[in-house]
Amino acid sequence: MTEDVRVRFAPSPTGFLHIGGVRTALFNWLFARHHKGTFILRIEDTDRERSTEDSIQEIIESLQWLGLDWDEGPFRQMERQDLYKEKVDQLLSEKKAYRCYCSPEDLERRRKLAQDQGAKPKYDGTCRGRTDQPDAPHVVRFLCPPTGNVVVKDLLRGNVEFDVAELDDFIILRTDGTPTYNFVVVVDDADMRISHVIRGDDHLSNTPRQALMYDALNFPRPQFAHISMILGTDKSRLSKRHGATATLAYRDMGYLPNALVNYLARLGWSHGDQELFTIDEMIAHFTLQHVTTSAAVFNPDKLLWVNEQWIQQLTPSELVDPFEAALIQEGLLEEGHGKSKDDLVKVIPSLQQRAKTLIEMAHGAEFYLKDEVTFDEKAKAKFLKPEIKPLFETLVAGLETMEEPLDHDVIELLFKKTVEDAGLKLGKLAQPVRVALTGKTASPGIYDVVLLLGKKRTIERLKNAL
Ligand code: GLU
Repeated sequence: MTEDVRVRFAPSPTGFLHIGGVRTALFNWLFARHHKGTFILRIEDTDRERSTEDSIQEIIESLQWLGLDWDEGPFRQMERQDLYKEKVDQLLSEKKAYRCYCSPEDLERRRKLAQDQGAKPKYDGTCRGRTDQPDAPHVVRFLCPPTGNVVVKDLLRGNVEFDVAELDDFIILRTDGTPTYNFVVVVDDADMRISHVIRGDDHLSNTPRQALMYDALNFPRPQFAHISMILGTDKSRLSKRHGATATLAYRDMGYLPNALVNYLARLGWSHGDQELFTIDEMIAHFTLQHVTTSAAVFNPDKLLWVNEQWIQQLTPSELVDPFEAALIQEGLLEEGHGKSKDDLVKVIPSLQQRAKTLIEMAHGAEFYLKDEVTFDEKAKAKFLKPEIKPLFETLVAGLETMEEPLDHDVIELLFKKTVEDAGLKLGKLAQPVRVALTGKTASPGIYDVVLLLGKKRTIERLKNAL
């Protein structure tokens, strides 16, 4: 199984890209990359009322942010109408589909009646045998075989059997001439030579209809793998109640793309008990054998932990782009600011060891980026008291004699000597200095702060506090 692997992600652009949807994209992408196959992006926009251009753009932006690049597409189903029309005509002429003229009101009335009699509400086949073809509003229905079983071979679940009596003569072409999902998905998957359909198990019940459609169109069926849905911590289907479900919301909350990818890959897939994976490791190890069918629970705390691990493990130069984006998002840097990448890289080591998100890192860098210190008023009142004045004066005097660039050990020595002479503990000086230099009571190590600010700015801020 190498060159022949062709998989697709086929979102319906009716909203933002849900975290569950992006996990499906990821599994397909990993499968393609592992087998050196092809990953295709296909936008399933035939539902004209609910599909939007904004949604298409958001799907594309989400995939790009996560680095899930596609080899073919994005194809849009609305641009492939001729192909669908040809296939509908083929099914009609081979009597595998028929026009149905039943009005929605009639259908509703008969459905009710059937329900009252305890029967399953499904299309009763009124137009099945109809031979006239008046030029009046109609849909096209697929002619399901009357009896028998459809066996869907699923790579994760084995053979899943469906009784055709449970299926309907389902609609393949709506009155407005647009084709429906169960039909186009088959035409497209066949036309795009999809080898494996990997998708959420919410589609498992559609698969027998699609299997019949493959047979009717004389297409070979692809292999199917239905992955389990993602649930919230209360075991109900993941929804807004459980927190953010839009993929890009995680970018805006300061998650690294590789952290989210890492976390999502582990929702339903495993490789021993390894938790942290680089993208290359995921690609190297990803196979369907280790995808489970039991429900995966989305745990925001664990995602945060994975993010924290990646923030610590990446090098400052690997972090600098997402860090810069977070700074701009938080209004701490302007777009087109004058800071060089090197300037930003410098501050990262002092921040990355204690931040869980890029947003935390961004706020931790405020003292370094802004000319003015924004004081936490409480901290100012508590730590910048008159008795600290002589100590600050000693520091300023000491700093003034220092050569640039400043040296960590030399600064440390100055601080230690200053408190020793005053008979104090280091904390009594470090905390007021921290407030004077950063405005806050929490910051990177105090000597790092001095180093980052440099001689001139440190002295200015100490004097200003005086
Ligand atoms: N457009 C469908 C969806 O977003 C695709 C399902 C499939 O992969 O076949 O759910």
